[in-house]
Amino acid sequence: MKTFGSLLLGAAFAVTATAVAAQEERFITIGTGGQTGVYYVVGQSICRLVNRDTATTGIKCTAPSTGGSVANVNAIKSGDMTMGVAQSDIQFHAYNGSSDEFAGDKKFDNLRAVFSVHPEPFTVVARKDASIAGFDDLKGKRVNVGNPGSGQLATMEVVLDAKGWSMDDFSLASQLKPAEQSAALGDNKVDAIVYTVGHPNGSIQEATSTVEANLVPVEGPEIDALVEANPYYAKAVIPGGMYAGTDADTNTFGVKATFVTSADVPEDMVYEVVKAVFDNFDRFKGLHPAFANLTPEEMVTQGNSAPLHPGAEKYYKEQGWIE
Ligand code: GLU
Repeated sequence: MKTFGSLLLGAAFAVTATAVAAQEERFITIGTGGQTGVYYVVGQSICRLVNRDTATTGIKCTAPSTGGSVANVNAIKSGDMTMGVAQSDIQFHAYNGSSDEFAGDKKFDNLRAVFSVHPEPFTVVARKDASIAGFDDLKGKRVNVGNPGSGQLATMEVVLDAKGWSMDDFSLASQLKPAEQSAALGDNKVDAIVYTVGHPNGSIQEATSTVEANLVPVEGPEIDALVEANPYYAKAVIPGGMYAGTDADTNTFGVKATFVTSADVPEDMVYEVVKAVFDNFDRFKGLHPAFANLTPEEMVTQGNSAPLHPGAEKYYKEQGWIE
């Protein structure tokens, strides 16, 4: 009787302990971008799906607005954020220590890929009255080159380097945030703005509807060479008719948005996040038009250069998406 009794007690205790462990609260913070961009929607959408399961997983997710790719990777490195969205070129450079932003001890060996998301064309929008028909016409103009910490500023620096230009080739190189730059274009404070962002998006819609404006092609031998030399770049086309003032297709190049984390984040946490997204994939895709063409197979195999986080890898193997 005694033995039986204590066994029962042991079993009851075990059940209670499991229930408590399952509901122990853990917090995930996802770094996004400006509130008018698509990263903000990526983070908010992931959190919305993760938070539906809080009762069973104990995980609570928030996705605040941030400065963008470079700021997110640095925040994950310092432990201030758990996960974040970053351009594929930034993921590559952070992991390999191959750009100024990530040189020396700024390199982030523990960066891990989770999945890639939507394509992000390098997008230049100009006021029609500034007569900017191609990238070369930006010389001497007032250009918003991207806020500090953003992916667009980093990619703009690469483009300027490739062309043998510097910020001094502009009469003004302002660093306004995405949420401010469309208004600056409308108010004639700048002639053109630069944004590496998924389409369609509200920010470029605002820029092209508050003032007569056109998208500017970014092409030519220097861009061909960049795309040729770097796995994280690809040619991109912004379809004609997507925004007011630009009826023809706009040729440019671009990156992919990717979702990243640190090797220090526990496997089961990343597993739960990935599961929340892919178990509810149609719902996720419906949360922004830039997600319309996403497929799980591409998201797990393209745009990632850091190793996959083991928690993500586990889910993808279960689904048969990777070997
Ligand atoms: N690509 C931008 C960046 O890396 C952010 C774009 C967005 O917020 O959608 O900073």
